[in-house]
Amino acid sequence: MRADALGVLGELGSSVAGQGFLLAGTAAVFVAAPDIDHMALRILHHRSILTHSVLLPLLVLWFAPELGPAAASGAALGVAVHLAADLLSPSRGFGRIWLPEPFQVSLGGWSPLWLMLNALACAWLALDVLPPGEIWRLMAGGVGAAMAVGYGLVRERSLLSALVALAVIAGGHVAEGWLRLT
Ligand SMILES: [Zn+2]
Repeated sequence: MRADALGVLGELGSSVAGQGFLLAGTAAVFVAAPDIDHMALRILHHRSILTHSVLLPLLVLWFAPELGPAAASGAALGVAVHLAADLLSPSRGFGRIWLPEPFQVSLGGWSPLWLMLNALACAWLALDVLPPGEIWRLMAGGVGAAMAVGYGLVRERSLLSALVALAVIAGGHVAEGWLRLT
């Protein structure tokens, strides 16, 4: 069943337009994905280090390769925007990043650094997984920017949140371009 569903989606991704659709779709789903920790609060605590990290898009890359690179890229963009928005909440109590059971300790003052580094890593990964070609980078850049502005202004109701997310997406582009040249 799962393989069939992935196969259908993977087929959809075999055209450039289909890949664009997958990229935007996974970005829209994964922008909310880090907060699935709410569903397992006993084990994970809110703002879990496992879900608020580059791990989520890597799972898509490792466990659903049949979806093609656009799905992992979109997942990475969504998580990058979510982590950028979380960066703006004060790193106290629930604002902190928490280790799962059996530790249940927070990163404390290191939480914003964790969020920033993982947001940037996601923004970079979103480009690194794509095949060579400017069309891919344009597509990911467009979806990332739309996601950053949409999530910041509509969900967070904050211009600052939109700007920080845009900066993270742009940072990923700079890092990927630079790493590609070196
Ligand atoms: Zn969150």
